[in-house]
Amino acid sequence: MPIYWHRRDLRGPDNRGLARARSFDGPIVPIFVLDPTILEHAAPVRVACLLEALADLRQWYRKRDSDLLVVRGEASAVLPELAAEHGVETVVWVDDYSGLARGRDRAVTAALEDEGVDCETVHDALHHEPGSITPSTGGNHYSVFSYFWKKWRDREKRAPVDPPTDGELAAVHGEALPSLAELGFDEPEPTPPTVTRARARDRLESFCADDIYRYAEKRDYPAAEATSRLSVHLKWGTVGVREVYTATERARECADTDTARESVTAFQRQLAFREFYVHVLAFNPETVTENFDEYENEIPWRNDRDELAAWKAGETGYPIVDAGMRQLRREGWIHNRVRMLVAAFLTKDLLIDWREGYAHFRRLLADHDTANDVGGWQWASSTGTDAQPYFRVFNPVKQGREYDPDAEYIREYVPELADATAAEIHGWHDLEPEDRTAIAPSYPAPIVDHGRRRERAIEAFERARGESE
Ligand SMILES: Cc1cc2nc3c(=O)[nH]c(=O)nc-3n(C[C@H](O)[C@H](O)[C@H](O)COP(=O)(O)OP(=O)(O)OC[C@H]3O[C@@H](n4cnc5c(N)ncnc54)[C@H](O)[C@@H]3O)c2cc1C
Repeated sequence: MPIYWHRRDLRGPDNRGLARARSFDGPIVPIFVLDPTILEHAAPVRVACLLEALADLRQWYRKRDSDLLVVRGEASAVLPELAAEHGVETVVWVDDYSGLARGRDRAVTAALEDEGVDCETVHDALHHEPGSITPSTGGNHYSVFSYFWKKWRDREKRAPVDPPTDGELAAVHGEALPSLAELGFDEPEPTPPTVTRARARDRLESFCADDIYRYAEKRDYPAAEATSRLSVHLKWGTVGVREVYTATERARECADTDTARESVTAFQRQLAFREFYVHVLAFNPETVTENFDEYENEIPWRNDRDELAAWKAGETGYPIVDAGMRQLRREGWIHNRVRMLVAAFLTKDLLIDWREGYAHFRRLLADHDTANDVGGWQWASSTGTDAQPYFRVFNPVKQGREYDPDAEYIREYVPELADATAAEIHGWHDLEPEDRTAIAPSYPAPIVDHGRRRERAIEAFERARGESE
């Protein structure tokens, strides 16, 4: 009989690992391991999501006269014990590609093989696994997304796979799930999103019925709420990548204009972006802490503690930046355009090391995914693959005007500005101090002058690149 070890694939349907476990003799014993060495890197908001997704998956198994056994301990110690207890010959799981996960998986494989238990792993989290889309000129991954995208787009995609049937699951009974406090975590600051299979399917279906057709036009406007909000489900695997892709293809078939079809493609392109960054990280695990792009000299980060604190608190006096930082603290999620803006503001206007921003995002994002978080940060700080050129510094005022023209998004997250007009909000940096006090007495004046800070950032990057004295 096999053990199926769930990790970031917290669902029954469209799970290639679980489907693989069906091919072994005997009923499947489903397991999740709460491993302290992995939990050490987690944050309260994500552990809260994890516990909800586990409770939900457990219900799925219970409806099928089985259960998800949730055990605590180091995976390399508890899995061999469980294999012995259940007389299991094979443990099956799906690949995870970060350096941390791969280190853990090597230790688990060695421990199981020492006990004579076979290990079987399957690709599941991506359509095209690392190493399968490579430049014809050589190398194990692309560093430029547009080339990657063309190949990703043209490759055939796998179809969703069926879950095991009731008789294929072992009649086991698990103990109660631990609480957040029992795992040693405080209550999360952001309100955790609902991470269940039903929510994931609901998001996917409603998005593909409607918003997907205006995605290309609206995805950059945070107040439009026109993105899928699937990131947290892709992170925890409450939805499978094949079912997402199939739903988008169905939406394409139902589309009645070229614009609508192009919008579906624009969305699929973002799904490919997620995979691109996983490929990059898989072959460059050191980029979790090191710049991908090596400059001749060190980037002279300034790391001013007060400015960092103002950025984290959403008190920079740049309304769109502050709205984003407060959305993060409230919801554990930020709109993509605003993620780019707040990351650019930190690394360029404040010249603060991207690793500080990454650590803060990692503490608060419910959808934190190492590859995509590192990829996003290195892109914004001009140190990554295919990164934003160092001399193209986002202007937070222009970006606010362009992408939140009526300041709806800003007012939602910065209540001090609730009664200000859009012109006052977008002209905040230009107002006289007494006007600012009259409009929103508790909202700060800009902590820096964007124009000057832009020049300082460009000079600093030129020095790092060895292009100026
Ligand atoms: C500094 C920074 C940090 C980021 N950190 C993360 C992170 O930790 N986890 C994460 O999933 N995404 C991250 N992103 C990418 C992106 O912001 C989120 O995936 C997106 O906002 C999630 O919202 P959504 O599901 O509504 O996206 P949609 O626009 O609906 O996109 C659908 C899916 O495509 C993928 N996707 C979309 N945009 C990107 C992108 N720019 N890069 C990679 N994948 C993308 C995501 O899986 C997303 O769920 C980061 C971006 C930046 C600039």
